[in-house]
Amino acid sequence: MNAYFYGKMLPNHQLIAAAPMNYSTVKNCAYINGKWVNASKGQFFKVFNPANGQCLADVPNLGVEDVSEAIDVAEKAFQSWSNKPGKERSQFLRKWFNIITENSESIAKILSEESGKPFNEALGEVQYGNSFVEWFSEEARRINGEILSSPVSTRELMHIKQPVGVAALITPWNFPLAMITRKAGAALAAGCTCVIKPAEDTPLTALALMECAEKAGIPVGVLNVVPCDRSNAASVGQLLCENPKVGVITFTGSTAVGKLLYKQCSGSVKRIALELGGNAPFIVFKSADLKKAVLGAVGAKFRNCGQTCVSPNRFLIENAIFDEFVNAITSYIKENITFDSQSSGKMQIGPLINKAQLNKIDNIVQDAIKKGAKVHIGGKRASDVGELFYEPTVLTNITPDMICYNEEIFGPVISCTKFSDEDEAIKVANATNSGLAGYFFSKDVSQIFRVSKKIQVGMVGINEGLISTAEAAFGGVKESGLGREGSHHGIEEFVNVKYLCFGDL
Ligand code: ADP
Repeated sequence: MNAYFYGKMLPNHQLIAAAPMNYSTVKNCAYINGKWVNASKGQFFKVFNPANGQCLADVPNLGVEDVSEAIDVAEKAFQSWSNKPGKERSQFLRKWFNIITENSESIAKILSEESGKPFNEALGEVQYGNSFVEWFSEEARRINGEILSSPVSTRELMHIKQPVGVAALITPWNFPLAMITRKAGAALAAGCTCVIKPAEDTPLTALALMECAEKAGIPVGVLNVVPCDRSNAASVGQLLCENPKVGVITFTGSTAVGKLLYKQCSGSVKRIALELGGNAPFIVFKSADLKKAVLGAVGAKFRNCGQTCVSPNRFLIENAIFDEFVNAITSYIKENITFDSQSSGKMQIGPLINKAQLNKIDNIVQDAIKKGAKVHIGGKRASDVGELFYEPTVLTNITPDMICYNEEIFGPVISCTKFSDEDEAIKVANATNSGLAGYFFSKDVSQIFRVSKKIQVGMVGINEGLISTAEAAFGGVKESGLGREGSHHGIEEFVNVKYLCFGDL
């Protein structure tokens, strides 16, 4: 182990005390065919730490010619990887899991520095993301077919599942590790090989994962990482969608890019799995345990500074408890949320990922204020902390003409709207083209069952704000996406069902 780990490695992979990471050693390293390579055109792009603006590394900026080579390599590796028994693939995944576990802190440091997540949160992501490698190492042995009941005595019928081929992964910056492992774990378990294009803001975590994969002995060509900057992303994305050697595209990111990829896949009728934007309602009914609702809201909203697709976006609070909830959440934020890593016992939030994101959030808040929203806390940049920091914000007096009422905010802003009965809450909650996650707090059992069924989303948190886990299916309805990740369903995106009919028996 060298480039990506800031501690020295012992033979048993245990880290010695961490020395400061030397990012100058991490450049020149895309990962193709088991080799650390440059872009053929010799270009690089810079990766910055959003917390302080420091340049962390120059990373090779790959173009279509490099990515085309990575696809060829992955296709070649597919021939033998797909033929390995599930048990063998399982063992490779388990080794990868073990090595990621042993290096959790070093990877978390890289992840924290390039994404701006506080270190503990980054460590949480490494553990969460790695749980998918573990889960799919177990699932790899259970990709079973079916024997069917034949309608005639001279035939036997069977379904078998076969890997679809090379999987192209395009991933976002908000979970630089978990969005890769949730896809790659399932792909590898199914027998697919991968070409991974990480987000331009956060390629270093992806490369660190490859170093772990290399250590785990995952055969060359099975996992490839092809970083590129924003200006190359469109041509690389198009190549991945149109190249016939790619069997499936799996993407997490914005709805706009997801729709473009979906279109580009239509030419070759390529399979595609999409995890796109959300606009999650967070409903608090009057029967709710208010303290738990506040804790659930804060945990779900301020994780990753509100930059997750399952973040609650529209807080709908029943009339009778509206003021109480707003006061409670405002006080909670005042007392328990900090930008400071030294404030023990408090929840620390980091910066937004980049200037574009910061400006977007501020624009949403200023738009609401201009149109009459009341600011209970925050409402402005936290420039004294750092250029990309924004104060945790609570807004009320929200009206439907405000951007925050209609769009996914993706930042540390809670906007609260009143409702008067269950029907109205559901109507407002469902009045969006997105349908990823939804949350509600209630103690009324029949209401819990009614609302769970009526709310138009792929995932529901009931008296719970943090719901993602390897065991459960992650994914949305409506424009929030296609397919599921995690759980045993996650494998299905990477296999074809083949029907075998044995006649003349
Ligand atoms: P965000 O706006 O949050 O960065 P995006 O959907 O733009 O979300 O980015 C998610 C991923 O999609 C990143 O890896 C990014 O580089 C990639 N991407 C952006 N534009 C395209 C495109 N036209 N084709 C393929 N990938 C793209």
